[in-house]
Amino acid sequence: MSDIQSEIQADPAVPTTPTVRFADFGLSPDILRALNDQGYVHPTPIQAEAIPVVLQGRDVMGAAQTGTGKTAGFSLPIIQLLLAHANTSASPARHPVRALILTPTRELADQVAENVKAYCRHTPLRSTVVFGGVDIAPQTAALRSGIEIVIATPGRLLDHVQQKTLNLSQTQILVMDEADRMLDMGFLPDLQRIINLLPKERQNLMFSATFSGEIKKLAATFLKSPVTIEVARSNATADNVTQTMYHVNDQTKAEAVSHIIRERKLKQVIVFSNTKIGASKLARHLENEGVNASAIHGDKTQNERMAALEAFKRGEIEVLVATDVAARGLDIAELPCVINFDLPYNAEDYVHRIGRTGRAGASGDAISLYADKDERLLVDIEKMIKHKFVRAELTGFVAKPASAERERSSGRGADGRNGRGASSDRSTQHTRSAYTSTPTSRKEKIDPWFLKPYEPTLAAEVDSASIAPAGGSIKPSKVKLAALLGGLPKN
Ligand code: AMP
Repeated sequence: MSDIQSEIQADPAVPTTPTVRFADFGLSPDILRALNDQGYVHPTPIQAEAIPVVLQGRDVMGAAQTGTGKTAGFSLPIIQLLLAHANTSASPARHPVRALILTPTRELADQVAENVKAYCRHTPLRSTVVFGGVDIAPQTAALRSGIEIVIATPGRLLDHVQQKTLNLSQTQILVMDEADRMLDMGFLPDLQRIINLLPKERQNLMFSATFSGEIKKLAATFLKSPVTIEVARSNATADNVTQTMYHVNDQTKAEAVSHIIRERKLKQVIVFSNTKIGASKLARHLENEGVNASAIHGDKTQNERMAALEAFKRGEIEVLVATDVAARGLDIAELPCVINFDLPYNAEDYVHRIGRTGRAGASGDAISLYADKDERLLVDIEKMIKHKFVRAELTGFVAKPASAERERSSGRGADGRNGRGASSDRSTQHTRSAYTSTPTSRKEKIDPWFLKPYEPTLAAEVDSASIAPAGGSIKPSKVKLAALLGGLPKN
């Protein structure tokens, strides 16, 4: 995370709008210089649509999938609008919070923050990110120094409000990124609390990959005459992704995954597991099979997750086994393949998962495994994406049930947590096999932790987004936030 330019770069596979240039929007030369640094010349379709609308001060309801360039779509015009207030004064009072960007997970918050920081780098505007699971002190220091753009997960943001290190009374612009996921994660009470802290007169931007009735209801409560911007049909899967559905025996799914990885010689793949313990066990199984794999989920510290992600991006780890919450919003460009080890309980998650591949115009493979018991989940997905799958059999693969069984019955995850993660996992009730994911109801997907009303943590160590996947077992990282994020703003 140290070098911004190496993290955020023009993605040659991103479909841009060749007839339009960033210079056409009337953006400040300081912003154009930053875009030039990144190698961006032409906007992506959502950028081409969103930038002028946001610059006009209108509210926006954006239906955009991952990899469309939506982060710059909202960040650039926000920076332009805030430049009217930019100043180099040392006084914190001259740098009130003017824009608040809310994201469901700390990884997404971190990525958005990196982008914003890169786009602001030639302006006096200050930005920072706050999320849980890390020491609150550096965040407090940054906020106290005066920050115009705050990127945050909801729980930690409320902790800062509670501790009076953050005042939102001058916030002019609110962005809700990945709003569907925020609702999925039970953040609605926190969001309402945050909205109540903001001035009534403000601009609101909401982005979501999918638009359920619930999302529309939320939008109706806080967006004012929004302009709807849709760059891909909502609830649609990317056209350039080849989707394959393999019927497998539930007992031998882990071996099926290693078989697929070997057969297809996959070198960079995210495998989705519905449970944390399932992710850990699968990663261990793959390692035993000689595949360089790592699990990324909420039981891991922030440091461990970031390290795994970075190693994956560098190609040192070939397979990242992830839960939905951990993988949400990860910006990993040109991922050739995702594998659904478990079909998701919620069909919308299928759209999010396969959005990891085929991003930005590149082609991709989405391979899913399903067992007999998953038929209902499969039908739910088919209904959502309006596509009937060919149910294929995975051939040429000889399972070793004995070894699979031995691993399952050992009860220890790859992280040596002795299955502790499962007790707080979404599928706690189904841990008779770590590889088994039968939900009794779709409601169980939400960890009950999320349904509790907001209670600020005294030490404010852990925010609700970050604790979410971990339940009570998260270990707050001792790493300084500034180091993690590549340094705090210089001015
Ligand atoms: P996002 O959907 O905001 O996560 O962006 C997806 C990827 O596209 C990121 O890697 C960006 O760095 C890249 N990107 C965003 N906008 C552009 C652009 N106009 N030209 C080239 N690459 C872009």
